[in-house]
Amino acid sequence: MAVSAALETAFCYHCRTHHPVEEMRQIATRSGKRWRCIRSIEATQGDRAKRDAFGKSITAMHQAEADDRARTFLHPLPHR
Ligand SMILES: [Zn+2]
Repeated sequence: MAVSAALETAFCYHCRTHHPVEEMRQIATRSGKRWRCIRSIEATQGDRAKRDAFGKSITAMHQAEADDRARTFLHPLPHR
């Protein structure tokens, strides 16, 4: 790589501005290769991880409720 490559910038389709290439990653999109800065990628991934964790906790809660209902249905009149 030429030394001048360190000074190259690319257009970030997320921020709609130019960043130094070394702070960016090339992303393959449906419309071709695009440059996007690492900061925006990590921010998006962090948001997604939080949403996924939230979604999983909701799913687990609903699953626990469904299990309770299933047990109630199987044993509607528990022996005393
Ligand atoms: Zn950017």
